[in-house]
Amino acid sequence: MRARDLNRYMGDLGWRRSPIPPKSETLPDVKSPSPGETLGSLAAAAAECTLCRLNEKRQTVVFGEGDPKASVMFIGEGPGAEEDRTGRPFVGQAGRLLDRMIFAMGFERQEVYLANVVKCRPPGNRDPKEDEVAACAAYLDRQIDLIEPEILVALGKPASWRLTGTNKPMGALRGRWSNYRGTPLMPVFHPAYLLRQPKLKREAWEDLKLVIRRLRSTTDD
Ligand code: URA
Repeated sequence: MRARDLNRYMGDLGWRRSPIPPKSETLPDVKSPSPGETLGSLAAAAAECTLCRLNEKRQTVVFGEGDPKASVMFIGEGPGAEEDRTGRPFVGQAGRLLDRMIFAMGFERQEVYLANVVKCRPPGNRDPKEDEVAACAAYLDRQIDLIEPEILVALGKPASWRLTGTNKPMGALRGRWSNYRGTPLMPVFHPAYLLRQPKLKREAWEDLKLVIRRLRSTTDD
């Protein structure tokens, strides 16, 4: 099953064989996690959050999930309908593609951490607005501080804009390293976009290979 998923993803990319392996100044200052703060206590705080209008129509707060000590943290834009219903990130169609991308990188889904720039569903799956992203910024930053990933992968425009602090097109951001508050950051096309533009899966795979290489180089040190 797993090998089939991998082969399907690699096939989508044109491979025939498995591989061997909004502007930052608008964001509030974020304090370090307070002593004793855990992902659980932060999630409990987020579950009560009413800092922006997205709380009005949400069914659940989709805080994030995965290994609390993951080396790679993927950050998407916000929950969709399926995520809002289940309370889990990336469980819809785009999530299934992301699972295959993660697996192609040599990880199981539960070995990485998945989160979003906003924790509540923007109605109609619209992009989150700048003030919504700003309202949620402290949750994401404290999540990153607690997880301390070696690498952040920003999936798509809202996450890449939020974490690079620029509004450049994805074509200019993807595949280029920057860093977010000291953590290496790689912007990659969002899996939902890749479902609409399957030819770009090859570029996404090139970008994910940079992530794999960087991870390997830090573990070899
Ligand atoms: N599901 C998520 O959790 N985030 C996205 O960005 C898209 C789908």
